Amino acid sequence: MIRLFESLREWQDFRASARGDWGFVPTMGALHAGHLSLVAQAQKENDHILVSIFVNPTQFNNAEDLEKYPRTLARDLQLLEPHGELCVLHPRYEELFADRYQFEVQEKEKSLVLCGAHRPGHFTGVLTVVMKLLNIAHARRAYFGEKDYQQLTLIREMAQAFFLPTEIVGCPIVREASGLAMSSRNERLSETERTEAAFLFRALQRRAPLEEIRKEIEAQGFKLDYLEERWGRRLVAAFKGSVRLIDNVAWPEN
Ligand code: AMP
Repeated sequence: MIRLFESLREWQDFRASARGDWGFVPTMGALHAGHLSLVAQAQKENDHILVSIFVNPTQFNNAEDLEKYPRTLARDLQLLEPHGELCVLHPRYEELFADRYQFEVQEKEKSLVLCGAHRPGHFTGVLTVVMKLLNIAHARRAYFGEKDYQQLTLIREMAQAFFLPTEIVGCPIVREASGLAMSSRNERLSETERTEAAFLFRALQRRAPLEEIRKEIEAQGFKLDYLEERWGRRLVAAFKGSVRLIDNVAWPEN
C-alpha cells in the first residue's frame, strides 16, 4: 500500500509518530528498474521506506531540459504499488523552497569538475535539495545510485561535513540488456538512438588510452562533454541527439 504525501506538514506529522528505522530514496520520478533497485535495497535494511518524487528546478541549468524532463506521477505510483508498504513524498516547489532559494549548499572543489564544469550551478542545486530532503525525511539511511557517481561522492562528503545523522548508501548501476545505464532521460531517445547509446558502456570498458576512446565515441555520433579517470572510476558524459547521457565504471577494473 502507498501513502502519498503532497504536503510537508502532513508528512512531518506522520513521521513524528512513526517509530523504527527509515530508509529514504530521493528521486525525480519517471521511475525505472534503477530506482526500484534502490527501493529494494532500502527495504532490506530498514523498517519503513520513504520515496520522494520531486523534479528539482534548481539543479537544471538548461530550461529546455527541465521542461522536457518526464513527469509521470500516476505511472510511478503504479510501479511502486507492488513493492509493499511505502510512503511517497511529492512536495510542491513553493513549499520545499519557501525561502525562494535564498539559501544554498555550495561545495567548492569536486562540484566544479566533470558534470559541474559543464552544468554550472548543477551540484549546488542538488546538494541544497538533498540537504532539505534529508532533514525532512529523518531517515537512518538514504540510498543513491552509483550511476550519478559524482553526485554520490558529493552527497557522502556533505553528510560527513555537516555531521548529518543519515548514513549515505551507494547502490550499483542497473543497466538495460544492451548495457545502457537506465535513466529517466532514455525515454527521450528514439529507438535507433537508444540502440546506439549502448556503445558508451562498451567504450568505457575498453583497455585503451582515453584519447583513442574519445575519438571512437565521437566517431559514433556522440557529442562528448568529458571522458576522464578520477576517484577510481572512468566517467563519461555525452549527448546522443539532444539527450545528455552519463555513465561510469570502476577503473582500473577490480
Ligand atoms: P534521478 O531520479 O535520476 O534523480 O535518480 C534518483 C536516484 O536513482 C539517484 O540516486 C540515481 O543515482 C539513482 N539511479 C538512477 N538511475 C540509476 C541506475 N540506472 N542504476 C542505479 N541507480 C540509479
